[in-house]
Amino acid sequence: MPRFACLEVRTACSSCGSSIPVNGPFRSVTCPSCFRKMPVAVDILGGFLNDFEEEYEGTEKGQGTGGTVMSGSGTYKYGCWKLPPKCPECGKPLVLPEDTATGTAICPDCGEKLHFFPAPEWLVREVPSAVSCLTPEQPPGPEGEQALEMDESSSRPIVMSCPQCGGALTVSNSSERIMKCGYCSTEVYVPDEVWTRLHPVRTAREWFVVLDGMNIHQIRSERRRMDQREEEEFLKGWKLRNTPEKVRRSFRMFVPVVLVLLAVATAITLIGMLESSKGGGVSGSWSRYGPYLVVTVTILLPVWIVIRSVFSAKIGRGRESKKALADLAAKHGWQHQAAEYRSAQGYIDAKYRGRDIEIHPDDDYAIEVELKDSAFYLKTEPPGWPGDDLQRFSSGDSRFDELFPIRYARPELAERIGSSREDAGRVLAPIFRFLEKWGGRLGRMKVDWSSAEVHLSPGHADPMDAGVRYLLPEDLEPLLEDMMVLAGGLDAASAGRTPELPGAVPGPDG
Ligand SMILES: [Zn+2]
Ligand SMILES: [Zn+2]
Ligand SMILES: [Zn+2]
Repeated sequence: MPRFACLEVRTACSSCGSSIPVNGPFRSVTCPSCFRKMPVAVDILGGFLNDFEEEYEGTEKGQGTGGTVMSGSGTYKYGCWKLPPKCPECGKPLVLPEDTATGTAICPDCGEKLHFFPAPEWLVREVPSAVSCLTPEQPPGPEGEQALEMDESSSRPIVMSCPQCGGALTVSNSSERIMKCGYCSTEVYVPDEVWTRLHPVRTAREWFVVLDGMNIHQIRSERRRMDQREEEEFLKGWKLRNTPEKVRRSFRMFVPVVLVLLAVATAITLIGMLESSKGGGVSGSWSRYGPYLVVTVTILLPVWIVIRSVFSAKIGRGRESKKALADLAAKHGWQHQAAEYRSAQGYIDAKYRGRDIEIHPDDDYAIEVELKDSAFYLKTEPPGWPGDDLQRFSSGDSRFDELFPIRYARPELAERIGSSREDAGRVLAPIFRFLEKWGGRLGRMKVDWSSAEVHLSPGHADPMDAGVRYLLPEDLEPLLEDMMVLAGGLDAASAGRTPELPGAVPGPDG
């Protein structure tokens, strides 16, 4: 059963502020006052329909939503109602032509015409359930532009000069779009500025979209179910492959403690053997000294861990890391915040080359750089919470896939990455470049819609490292710079541009 949405949409001219009707699925409309061409935000127009679909079941016939949407790409006033197509003039229900995809629906009562055509491809990409459109204006042109129609009321002709011979051409609203010059016989295409002056569209009118099949929310939740199944499967093997390494790493920090205990135990046994001549023996020695060992383990070990964490920024690498952070802050005129605490590295919150950054070596992620509307969601460890508009992908590069068991991107990018190794290499180039240098030492990394974050090992070992995280002094600045390049590259890839990366771009491995 098809569903019907009735829309009425206006936007505002960014140049003169006039209200511009959007009477159909156009990607650009012409301002009726200043005749500038204004782009229409595809995602906003599609968003009205997708929101409508989400609420469809609970919406009564004739009901709907409306309001004003203000965004970076313009201001939109809209209404969207659950209404089957009706004549915009007299309100009589319209019968859609069934046998053709394109044509006109004519009101049986007043003869008013609506244009009927398949939903343009860009609209279907935003609104997968959109099938066809019914509009009072001509269907959009190949670029989604508004076709300009005759307006009988503006009858004053305009004189322009022939671009070929300079002769005077009089253009009126009865002129064809392509005119023959009376002097040189050249065919002259009447420019938009002249044409729209004669044929402005000023009134917002209702138009309709026929919707059918699964809507975007159903398609997404279906896809997410499949992605989750695939992810679970991958993680089973991934955990098996990666757990031994993690255990080894966390065991390493206890090696000195274990060695000391072993030495003490050996000493007790030796003392017992030496004293065995006096009758005490090994067991006697253990019963005398053993309790001290137990006390040492139960009291001194926790004390040692606490001391290590309290003075983490005062001793060893923690101290070097903190000093490097202070130096970096001084170099850029940033504030090294919370530097007064012995147990903390302190942190930097700053604006660097147009991005918000945070450097916080004793946090989960040491460096965080702002992204603008990133199309990626990547994590070096589960669990992940990607937005439901994202799709899981495999890069085909085993090292990348192993580093990021959680990897999602916007569907168009996920599909490009999945289509070939070359395309994956191009889309993921900024990340491949970053991994080329830091991949072997990633402690933890995350890319989401608003930021890229990273920590390195050593400095961040899992999972018993609370309070002793740091960055090696020599890593701090290069890592920050590479994160800045990564952020620029990710933003470019997210916007569908080819990222400009310094140096050669490494491709996926063989
Ligand atoms: Zn304007
Ligand atoms: Zn009618
Ligand atoms: Zn001419």
